Amino acid sequence: MSSVSRLIMAISLRMPPLSSPLHSKWPCRTTWNPSVGLIRRSFAVKASGFANENREFVIVGGGNAAGYAARTFVEHGMADGKLCIVSKEAVAPYERPALTKGYLFPADKKPARLPGFHTCVGSGGERQTPDWYKDHGIEVLYQDPVVGFDAQAQTLTTSSGKLLKYGSLIISTGCSATRLPEKSGGNLPGVHYIRDVSDADSLVSSLERAQKVVVIGGGYIGMEVSAAAAGWNLDTTIIFPEDHLMPRLFTSSLARRYEELFHKMGIRFLKGVRIDQLEAGPNGRVATVKLGNGNTIVTDTVIVGIGAKPVVSPFEMVGLNTSVGGIQVDSLFRTSIPGIFAIGDVAAFPLKIYNRVARVEHVDHARKSAQHCVRTLLTSHTQPYDYLPYFYSRVFEYEGSTRKVWWQFYGDNIGDTIEVGNFDPKIATFWLDSDNRLKGVFLESGNPEEFELLPQLARRQPVIDRAKLKDAPSVEAALEIAKNSMS
Ligand SMILES: Cc1cc2nc3c(=O)[nH]c(=O)nc-3n(C[C@H](O)[C@H](O)[C@H](O)COP(=O)(O)OP(=O)(O)OC[C@H]3O[C@@H](n4cnc5c(N)ncnc54)[C@H](O)[C@@H]3O)c2cc1C
Repeated sequence: MSSVSRLIMAISLRMPPLSSPLHSKWPCRTTWNPSVGLIRRSFAVKASGFANENREFVIVGGGNAAGYAARTFVEHGMADGKLCIVSKEAVAPYERPALTKGYLFPADKKPARLPGFHTCVGSGGERQTPDWYKDHGIEVLYQDPVVGFDAQAQTLTTSSGKLLKYGSLIISTGCSATRLPEKSGGNLPGVHYIRDVSDADSLVSSLERAQKVVVIGGGYIGMEVSAAAAGWNLDTTIIFPEDHLMPRLFTSSLARRYEELFHKMGIRFLKGVRIDQLEAGPNGRVATVKLGNGNTIVTDTVIVGIGAKPVVSPFEMVGLNTSVGGIQVDSLFRTSIPGIFAIGDVAAFPLKIYNRVARVEHVDHARKSAQHCVRTLLTSHTQPYDYLPYFYSRVFEYEGSTRKVWWQFYGDNIGDTIEVGNFDPKIATFWLDSDNRLKGVFLESGNPEEFELLPQLARRQPVIDRAKLKDAPSVEAALEIAKNSMS
């Protein structure tokens, strides 16, 4: 298809029918951006000052994706006096992964604190402190979450009662931590969830007094928080119903390596066990964890990491995805309503490489989706988002730690696996499909060149000689075999 016919198709696909209320009811001047459809830019906003109440671009949510979106607006010279971020939090956007890593280091091991990890330091960009937003003419409304939304009138209502009119809207509300029910003790003092910096502050103040920590959940949060608690030399038990750590990504053999290491670091495991009830002691604070198998554990601090749910309220009407949750968008992050976009954790988007719809709750996607969406909004760019899933974690990185853990995974963890290496310190896992195509690759403690190779392998999906890979004497040799398979 020629670029012209592609353009026409894009326009006709986004053009609301003439009978649409978009044409008759919205009292604003509209312009066409071929990649976006109708942009309603009726609201002349003076540069630097927000003299009227009409915002041209509004981002709801002041998290990871919002920070990177703001940077992209600035790069296009479209922030000053035009962009407003409405945030639930009291602080400017920051690199959220730090909350279960550097933020939880004990006081004597140089914990990370704001402004040290505002966006975009995680990707090597300028540190976006509150002053950065002011200097670039970006209005940030702190601690004033959006509670109401009217797509026809193009307005948002905040909890303090502000009525904000927007031209284009980006929803980046992320996820909220799944909680244990109140009747199971999920709201007792001493029970923590970790999603934002105020949660992390509250957890740090508990850790300062804690003796016996229980971590519920063996996924990302459970793994990282239990490693952090070990850095405080606390009696730490991690409990989860599955038979191994990180069940959604790790093979049982890979998980065993990490479990042995965690055990050496003083962390106890209770696997295949469910929580029945959290109970308070005489002071009202959590004191025991009753397990489904009838046993109880004494504790003073519980951290719950049992998953997260996309925050779609109050935007349900823009269109939700019923299989993966979140707000449905197309490959340019457009929702079903022209001029409204969704990015980051909350967006259910076409994962082109695997031809399925996905939500990805990881910071790399938060960054890239934000950049892609804002470029779509501000320019005539129409290239579909083509994301390669990437996950990473880093634990035991505090000063004086005897073993640092740093792994990366790229691709899809489907098919059979081949594991190479002895975890001293390296180990690699390769996922191959029935045609011997490499689908996913995991590496612990690689060097920068080795880590750089992983996305190339996962993107190219070379056919690999299974027998040769299995017999590789080292991780380095296995990576060399995989690399040579690409040529
Ligand atoms: C503790 C923790 C550790 C993590 N570690 C890793 C890691 O090691 N590696 C990795 O790849 N990913 C990690 N992640 C995931 C990563 O941080 C997220 O994928 C990323 O933050 C998503 O960005 P986002 O902007 O979509 O959502 P968020 O960063 O969660 O931001 C959403 C923001 O919207 C706000 N909000 C919600 N509703 C409203 C409303 N109605 N009005 C206004 N504001 C609202 C929220 O308060 C929040 O500030 C971690 C996440 C957490 C919580």
